[in-house]
Amino acid sequence: MRPQTTLRTSVSIEGVGLHSGHPVRATLRPAPPDHGIVFVRADHPDTDIPAALESAANYDHATTLSLRGVSIGTVEHVLSAAAGEGLDNCRIEIEGPEVPILDGSALPFVRLLPAAGFERQGASVRPLTLQRSVEVTRGDRSIRFTPDGAGLTVTYEIDFPHPIVGRQSLTVTVGPEEYASAIAPARTFGFLREIEIMRARGLARGGNLHNAVVLDEEGIISGPLRFRDEFVRHKVLDLIGDLSLLGAPLKGHVHARKAGHALHIEFARAVERALRAPAEEAAAPAARRLSILGT
Ligand SMILES: [Zn+2]
Repeated sequence: MRPQTTLRTSVSIEGVGLHSGHPVRATLRPAPPDHGIVFVRADHPDTDIPAALESAANYDHATTLSLRGVSIGTVEHVLSAAAGEGLDNCRIEIEGPEVPILDGSALPFVRLLPAAGFERQGASVRPLTLQRSVEVTRGDRSIRFTPDGAGLTVTYEIDFPHPIVGRQSLTVTVGPEEYASAIAPARTFGFLREIEIMRARGLARGGNLHNAVVLDEEGIISGPLRFRDEFVRHKVLDLIGDLSLLGAPLKGHVHARKAGHALHIEFARAVERALRAPAEEAAAPAARRLSILGT
């Protein structure tokens, strides 16, 4: 079992918010063991928003955390970078309502972490282990967990009726090196027609050709891809970020098919229920005995 890890010092990064279009700065600060990843908005310094499933509030094109009326948007890429690189304890202060989109990938965050340096802490990571499978299905979209392997392996399949995207599938065993080289650089992507609809709803105001792969009907209008299958790699990036809301690394194989943030969160909640279930089942016979004794 590896020790928990935090940063040696604080580091900041600036960019625009994808949806608001406003400039925003994120500062990542060290935190003590068992603190987890916690967001705090500079304009609400008394409200700590833990990166936890109970804070997940909205998953429309990005994941938003919310607590007592205070929200932080677009948290999934920085969370993915933290989970992928094994950063367990960190306070992320945001001067604005959402994490900056930067280049649309997790790479700027991954590059930022060594600038702060990692510090091993005097407590161990307790991975989440589950001995049975869990599956959520919505039509032809699904995510399945099976208790295979020593770490986290993700398989993702997508199928977009577009000449550049089409069917893509990727399996990756998540570790810091593999994450930094194969997953972190993959940028978010969007279809021009959907971006126009989002703009009309007041979303994606900060979106441009430098922070997303933008597709029109025939091709890409935002320059060359970083990987031929950059699209499915970004879906893996998002899934790793959303699964980190479980609060500890999950061990096993997660197989997602045509999913997105909403299904990622629904799946993570199903895993959380399954993780709690053995304890509840073990407690049930004792509860039954007590009720017999009481009658
Ligand atoms: Zn994303």
